[in-house]
Amino acid sequence: MQIQLLPSSFDAQGSANAAQRLTCFVIDDRVTVDAGSLGIALSEAQRRTIRDVVVTHPHMDHIASLPIFVDDLFGELRQPVRIHATSEVIELLKADVFNDTVYPKFDELRNEHGPVMEYVPFQMGQEFQVAHLKLTAIAVNHIVPTVGLLVSDGKATVAFSSDTAETEELWHVVNHARHLNALFIEASFPDAMEALAKASKHLTPSMLRTELNKLNHNGMDILAVHLKPAYREKVIQELNELGIEKLRVMEPGRIYEW
Ligand SMILES: [Zn+2]
Ligand SMILES: [Zn+2]
Repeated sequence: MQIQLLPSSFDAQGSANAAQRLTCFVIDDRVTVDAGSLGIALSEAQRRTIRDVVVTHPHMDHIASLPIFVDDLFGELRQPVRIHATSEVIELLKADVFNDTVYPKFDELRNEHGPVMEYVPFQMGQEFQVAHLKLTAIAVNHIVPTVGLLVSDGKATVAFSSDTAETEELWHVVNHARHLNALFIEASFPDAMEALAKASKHLTPSMLRTELNKLNHNGMDILAVHLKPAYREKVIQELNELGIEKLRVMEPGRIYEW
């Protein structure tokens, strides 16, 4: 399984840098988890092959350029862009984003080949298939309805925390997986900002360490994501000071493989 965190910050010449302002993971150039930079940072090849988008929650940094992605492809789509989410999140996307005010109701529009966008609800805790992947979604502890994900291609298995404060059920489900190759876990704020992290339902490095203690798996790669750009250096320093083997900050643009 190949996973890339799309870049979301660029200098004036267009070169991507490491600051992560938006969240969009590309899996095997086919499926994405979230869609923050989906409409602005894909390669041309990826634009042609990605037709399934799993939305963990409706916060702007996770969906910002999803409407732009569908708009760009409108005339050329030969199958709809499928948006996989809980019914609750789908209703929020319909009410607040694809509502004919902020942007068109693309799920009601067609090009000459057929529908251009389709909502595909999934059930919490029940395995579902997206392209070649099997996924299980678990509610996590964020300020809006949000899921973490367990994702497997039959060989490799990875987990995404999405945005969350301390949580339990996700780890129970992850612990039931036969093995775990990689964990993508958020680390938004430095330890000194724990009050804000708790109020906005995110993790600091020391809270992340507590979450890892709930995991039975060992030896997987742990990739920290969602570091707030304003505090990035401090969070990196604190993550390094945890001294956890195989814990790294995920580099936008790089292709990781398991
Ligand atoms: Zn969020
Ligand atoms: Zn976020």
